[in-house]
Amino acid sequence: MTVTVATLGFPRIGPRRELKFALEAHWAGKTDAQTLLETARGLRAAAWARQAGLGVDHVPSNDFSLYDHVLDTAAMVGAIPAGYGWSGGPVDTATYFALARGRQGAEPADACGPGCGHDHGAGGGLPALEMTKWFDTNYHYLAPQLSPGQTFALASTKPVDEFLEARALGVPTRPVLLGPITFLKLAKAQDEGFSALSLLGGLLPVYVEVLQRLAAAGADWVQIDEPCLALDLTPFERGELRRAYGVLTHSVPGLRLMLTGYFGGYGDNLSTAVNLPVDGLHLDLVRAPEDLDRILPLARESLVLSLGVIDGRNVWRADLPALLDRLEPVVARRGAARIVLAPSCSLLHAPIDLDLETGVDPEIRQWLAFGIQKIAELAVLAKALNQGRDAVAAELEASRVAAQARRTSPRIHDAAVAARLAAATPAMASRASAYDRRRPLQDRRLGLPPLPTTTIGSFPQTEAVRKARSAHGRGELSDADYEGFLRAETARAVAWQEEAGLDVLVHGEFERNDMVQYFGEQLSGFAFTKHGWVQSYGSRCVRPPILYGDVSRPAPMTVAWWRYAQGLTARPMKGMLTGPVTILNWSFVRDDLPREQACRQIALAIRDEVLDLEAAGAQVIQIDEAALREGLPLRRGDWDAYLAWAVESFRLAAAGAADHTQIHTHMCYSEFNDIIAAIGAMDADVISIETARSRMELLDAFVGYAYPAQIGPGVYDIHSPRVPAVEEMTALLAAASERLAGEQLWVNPDCGLKTRKWPETQAAVANMVEAARRARALS
Ligand code: GLN
Ligand code: ZN
Repeated sequence: MTVTVATLGFPRIGPRRELKFALEAHWAGKTDAQTLLETARGLRAAAWARQAGLGVDHVPSNDFSLYDHVLDTAAMVGAIPAGYGWSGGPVDTATYFALARGRQGAEPADACGPGCGHDHGAGGGLPALEMTKWFDTNYHYLAPQLSPGQTFALASTKPVDEFLEARALGVPTRPVLLGPITFLKLAKAQDEGFSALSLLGGLLPVYVEVLQRLAAAGADWVQIDEPCLALDLTPFERGELRRAYGVLTHSVPGLRLMLTGYFGGYGDNLSTAVNLPVDGLHLDLVRAPEDLDRILPLARESLVLSLGVIDGRNVWRADLPALLDRLEPVVARRGAARIVLAPSCSLLHAPIDLDLETGVDPEIRQWLAFGIQKIAELAVLAKALNQGRDAVAAELEASRVAAQARRTSPRIHDAAVAARLAAATPAMASRASAYDRRRPLQDRRLGLPPLPTTTIGSFPQTEAVRKARSAHGRGELSDADYEGFLRAETARAVAWQEEAGLDVLVHGEFERNDMVQYFGEQLSGFAFTKHGWVQSYGSRCVRPPILYGDVSRPAPMTVAWWRYAQGLTARPMKGMLTGPVTILNWSFVRDDLPREQACRQIALAIRDEVLDLEAAGAQVIQIDEAALREGLPLRRGDWDAYLAWAVESFRLAAAGAADHTQIHTHMCYSEFNDIIAAIGAMDADVISIETARSRMELLDAFVGYAYPAQIGPGVYDIHSPRVPAVEEMTALLAAASERLAGEQLWVNPDCGLKTRKWPETQAAVANMVEAARRARALS
């Protein structure tokens, strides 16, 4: 018996994003469901063949999804909310996509970049299920809707169908199921005070039936994912895990279950996990290397351990000899037959294939491994363990050399950055004076009316803007012509804002492809891929920047555009920056440096930009931290440490500004209750947040905290093309002023307007300015 290799899950989107294009063609009515399903079948066949060819022993099936595996699970167990026209049986593609995207309505706009947490699905008509981030990844799942009377019945046999589909192609697979406890925990309970977990008793028989059918179809192992094991669980929840796995394992004897937790260690769920009556247990040894030593003394002899030693969440090539040093004693101790090697989690979160990549410089490239390369690494490790290191001597040497090169490369290590970081003092993270001293200085300098109006930064990225950018990228539009085009767009936007009567203007961000990429491209230490796509949700993919080295800012990044825009108007023009925490959280990060240190490096680079903008004359500078909240660790006990360095990084970026310079920040969400102290500690002069859809109730967190500074609660929802009427916005402003003092309030939309079109933007902003005028007249 030998050590075997598993992948836990393979990217679905296809090496050339084939699924994306097939989905979008289908949604646009250009292809029928049959054509889409054929493409999907082809992608599955290719993924299975590829993995089998690379030597994977446990090739996954049912890891594919047309949109989302949580939605697939809801469809499997018949948890389809009323109103979608479903009356039992398989869920057809039209209903499936209605749940995913809403009926009618255009392809939802992603105004906020990956991970904003917004419901981007609804397009009018039937709403989509709510979309939320999958644990701490940038993948978004659709939250099942469950209510107290919910019943379950096997509605879709997708796991069995895909198992048989693979077998017909000659590939035996290990089907993947989302486990019942995680499924219920991810569901959105439709009634207050009702816990979806109370439905477990009704859900388990469906899982039993699926497992029985898989066993009957010939499955030997089934992988059950319970990533909820990386969260804080209550004793009751742990008890339900024991109950569930007691039922599942006893009802289907002969079928072996591999229980997979990932995205973190088992923490205080460890003894629960290791004592579940399953046949195998997966460990995320990238996030929690300590779990190996904790588990070894506890694991019964027969338990198969799946060792997640290759990082499924990042892009770095592993140091294989170093991993073997750790693995060899474990194999000697437990026996090869009881060891499976795996990525830390599904490869869903990694780009597919480095061989397709053309955008990365050769030196950096040798440090990288995407999905396919990670599988190859696992195969090398398995071979070394099964046949001895000599059998793969060349591969091990190449891995060692690459790891060594990365450790010592001058591209990564910049002594000046290290020295600057070491010299950073706590005082640098504090403004010269407290908020109440800064406020009058800023008020005097800016001379704004009460309830000042502004927007969040971006204006419509029209077809023309995107075309010009890609023509410039392809070299078909000269630098000068592109720049001229952007200047004209900016000038038009500035003129229109003056006309609309906005008080604090923005330049519109026409020159920016993306709020992180734009900065990453100008900072040293970041690399960008051409083909490193990762699924964000449905057909949406992102190409996160790769933060590989020490970060510094060789030259000002935004000052020229700011200066141009400010030169067009006498009103204050906001400097517009992305904050260090957001840049970090939306990138692949270094694994050779603690996150917090990488974040501080970025903070110092942004600080330079703040100072340059200020020196150029900017009176107002906004530092967006759209992704601060989503960086929160999965376990509550880790929150304080994260928030401490995240807040400190923001302050380091902002606090160089003089007292009379007004620092704004923006966050694309509205849940602040549990982080309000950290928000307060950021010490921004003005924060704009999303509140339109929650009708200002979410301001209560600020009220409870007695937040001293100014707040711009969004008064219109930018996720929809609908133009809100003046009265709607005055009502929201009234609701806001019931909670906050008038002099604390700004008037702005929920977020940037880049996904909107100009006519609706102009109409909505005009109404917003009018609403502010009326509210001022009342006060
Ligand atoms: N300034 C950015 C914009 O307006 C902010 C976007 C965001 O926070 N997601 O587009
Ligand atoms: Zn936003």
